[in-house]
Amino acid sequence: MISHLPPGIYPCWAEVSLSRLEENLGAIRRHVGASAVCCVVKADAYGHGAVAVSQFLQHLGVERFAVANIEEGAELRQNGIDAEILVLCGVPPSQERIAAEYDLAVSIHSVEECDRLIASEQALRAHLEFNSGMNRLGLSEVDLHSVRERLCGSRIQVTGAYSHLSSSDERDEMFSRQQLERFDAVTRGGGFGVRHIANSAGLRFGDALFDFVRVGIILYGYNPVPGEVAIDVKPVLHWKARPLRIDAVPSGSPISYSRTFITTRKSRVATLPVGYADGFSRKFSNSGYVLAEGQVCRVLGMVTMDMIVVDVTDVDVTMETEFSILNDKRNAAHLAADLGTIPWEVLCAIGARATRIYV
Ligand SMILES: *Cc1c(COP(=O)(O)O)cnc(C)c1O
Repeated sequence: MISHLPPGIYPCWAEVSLSRLEENLGAIRRHVGASAVCCVVKADAYGHGAVAVSQFLQHLGVERFAVANIEEGAELRQNGIDAEILVLCGVPPSQERIAAEYDLAVSIHSVEECDRLIASEQALRAHLEFNSGMNRLGLSEVDLHSVRERLCGSRIQVTGAYSHLSSSDERDEMFSRQQLERFDAVTRGGGFGVRHIANSAGLRFGDALFDFVRVGIILYGYNPVPGEVAIDVKPVLHWKARPLRIDAVPSGSPISYSRTFITTRKSRVATLPVGYADGFSRKFSNSGYVLAEGQVCRVLGMVTMDMIVVDVTDVDVTMETEFSILNDKRNAAHLAADLGTIPWEVLCAIGARATRIYV
C-alpha cells in the first residue's frame, strides 16, 4: 500500500475521526470515574489503524494499551508508544526475548507457559489471567496461586491479574455476576498488582471496574449495551468510495458474475471500488446497499472481489459523489445485523486497501 498518496487518489477510503475518538474516550472516562482506561487496539485497532489511533490516544493521556500478540505490541513500540502495552494472547515459544526487547507486559495462562517464561531468563512484567468462566484462556484458582509462587525470585514480576467476561452483553446478568465474584474473591488482597476484568459491555457493572477497564468496541463508537450503560458514543470510522464508472444500461441487462440480477427497467448503475476483499461481504450480493446523497443505492448482482455495482437510477450522482458504505445512518451495527454477525467483525474485516484517513 502506498500510504503517502493524497486522500481520494484511491477512490475507496476510511475516514477515522480523531475528534470522535476523543469524545468517546471522554464519555468512557466520565463513566468509569477513578478507574483508568486501557484502550484495546488489537486487530489494527478494530480496523481503525492501531498506530495512528494509539499515538492519538497516548497524546490524550492514555497510559495503557492492550493488543492480541507480540507483533502488534512491537509495532506500537516502534511507532512511539511508550505507555504500558499488555499482550493478551500469551507469548509463543522462543518469542520471550522479543517481548522483553519491546518492553511488553505479557499474559500468563498456564503453568507450562509460566515455566517456559522463567526458563527464558528474560526480565518481564506479567499479568496472570484467571479463568472465571470463559474457558478460553486463563488459569484455574489452584494454578493462579501456583504460578505466582513459581514466579517468586524469578526475573518475572507479576504486575496484574485479570479475567474476561463471556456474557456481559446478555440481558441476564447472573453469569457475569458469578464471574465478577469469583475473580474478586480469588485475587483480593493477593498482591497481584492491578486487577481488571471489564470489557465494553462490562461497564454496566459498577463492581467490574477495578483498577482499569479494557475497552475496545465502545471506544470506536459502538455501545454494545446501550440500554444498560448510559455512555453516548458515536462511530469513529466512516467508509467511503467514489465511482469508477457510471453507466446507463437498458432494461434486461445482466449485472455482474453469473447474471444473478437483470435490470427490469432502463437503469443507471455505478461501479464502486469496494468488494469482498475489502470486507464488504459477498453475502450482500443482491441484498446490501450503500448510500449516496443520503439515498439508498442497492447492490445489483454479485459482490465481486474488488467491486460492486449499485443502482443509481433514482439518485442524482456524478463521478465526484462520495458513496457511503458505513456512516452514522448506516453503521457497522446495521451491516452486522443484516449479515447475522456483530459490529466487531464488520470493522475488523475492512481491508487494508481502504486508505485510512485521519480527520
Ligand atoms: C477484545 C478484548 C477486549 C475488548 O472487548 P470489547 O468488547 O471490544 O470492549 C477486552 N478484553 C479482552 C481479553 C479481549 O480479548
